[in-house]
Amino acid sequence: MEKYALTNFVLLDGTEHMQPQKGLAILVENGRINAIVPEGAISGDFKKQDLDGQYLLPGLINLHVHLAGSGKPRKKQTDPVKAVKLVTANGLTRRLGKAMVTGYAKQQLLSGVTTIRTVGGILDFDAQLRDAIDAGRQTGPRILAGNMAVSVPGGHMAGSLAHIVTTPQEAKACVKTIAETKADLIKLMVTGGVLDAVKKGEPGVLKMDPAIIRAACDQAHALGLKVAAHVESPEGVRAALENGVDTIEHGAMPDPEILELFKERGASLVTTISPTLSFSLFDQSISHATDMQKYNGRIVMDGIVGCAKACLEAGIPVGLGTDTACPYVTQYDTWRELTYLRRFCGVSNAQALYIATLASAKIAGIEKETGSIEAGKSADMLVCRENPLTNLSALRELSMVIFRGKQIKAPKVKVIPQVEQELDNYL
Ligand SMILES: [Zn+2]
Repeated sequence: MEKYALTNFVLLDGTEHMQPQKGLAILVENGRINAIVPEGAISGDFKKQDLDGQYLLPGLINLHVHLAGSGKPRKKQTDPVKAVKLVTANGLTRRLGKAMVTGYAKQQLLSGVTTIRTVGGILDFDAQLRDAIDAGRQTGPRILAGNMAVSVPGGHMAGSLAHIVTTPQEAKACVKTIAETKADLIKLMVTGGVLDAVKKGEPGVLKMDPAIIRAACDQAHALGLKVAAHVESPEGVRAALENGVDTIEHGAMPDPEILELFKERGASLVTTISPTLSFSLFDQSISHATDMQKYNGRIVMDGIVGCAKACLEAGIPVGLGTDTACPYVTQYDTWRELTYLRRFCGVSNAQALYIATLASAKIAGIEKETGSIEAGKSADMLVCRENPLTNLSALRELSMVIFRGKQIKAPKVKVIPQVEQELDNYL
C-alpha cells in the first residue's frame, strides 16, 4: 500500500478534550498512522495529499448493530423467528442472507462507521463477514462479532437472533458454542423490550434468571470474552450488573445504588436513543405503534436518556450504539445518534464526537487500535467539509472515508427517503 501524507486540514482527534488543530500532517503507511508531524516536516517518500482545509476526524464506532435488516419501517411487524428460518433454510438462502448482511455492513463503512460491534445476528454470519473483510475479500468496517445471542424461553429475540437456554448449565454450554463460532463477545437478552412487552407500563421485564446471567458471564469471562446485555428496566440493570455483565445495552432510569454498582463492577453503558424515537415521539399514524407500544416506548426512551445522563454525570463510561434494523434505524444513519445525544442528553458536539469514537473504542477494548487519530493506530478517518463541532449534520456528507489507510472518496449510500424525512424533524 502506498505511503501518503495528509495535509491542510483541521484535526479533531477524537480525544476527550479535543481542540481543532491546524498546521499538521498525518503520515499514513501500511494502513496505520505512522506519525503526526508539523506540515513542514514531511519526509520525501510520503506522497502529499491536500485536504483543502476540510475537517479530519476519527472513523465512528457503533457498538450496537444488528446486521440482518435495513431499518425500513413496515406496517406490520414480521415474525423474526419465521424470517430467520427462511434465511437459514438452505445453502442458497444462506448465501442470500450473507450477501444482505455484507451489503448492510458496507453501508456502515460508507456512512463513516469504521468499526461496528454486532450484538445479535444470524448464525455466525457476522464472524464470517469479519474474516472476509480482514482478508480483503469484502469491503466493510472492522467488526467485533457477537454472532447469535443468548435468551430464555419467551425472551427477547428468542429463537431468531438468540439461542434459548433454561438452566445455568445450558447457559454455559451455549456460551461455549457461541465462542466456537469465533465470536468476539457474548450478548445476553436479560429483559424484554418494547415490541415484546405484554403489559402497559411494563417494558423490559426481567426475563433471565440471575443464576443464568451469572453462569453465562462466568463462562464468557473464562474464555476471555466480554458480555453485553440487552436491558430495559432498572431491575434488569441491577441483575445484570450484580452478575457480571460488562456493558448495559440501552439502559433504564438508575438510582444511586445502580450507579454505584456500575462503578464497583467497572461496567459501561452503551446508549441507543435511535430506536426509541419512532415509538415514543412519532405520530401513531406514522409509527404504526399500538397504544401500549407508544406508552412503553416513552418509558424506555426516558430510561435510556436518563441512564445516559446519570452515567455521564457520574463519570461512568458511555458509548454509542444505534440498534440498527429496528424500525427507522438504518445501517447508514449512525451520525444521527450523535445529534440525539446532544438534543436529549445535552452533551456538547465535542462530547458526542468523543462518545462515538475514543470512548466507544475504550468500552470495546480496542482503544490501542482505533478510536482516535494518534500515531500507531489504524488509519481510520473521516473527512468532511463543514465543522461537526458547529453542526453534527456535517457528518451526513462525507468527502472521504479512510479505513485501514484505504481511501473511499465521495462515499454514497442509498437512503430510504421516508425514513430520512421523518427523522429530519429531530435534527
Ligand atoms: Zn439490539
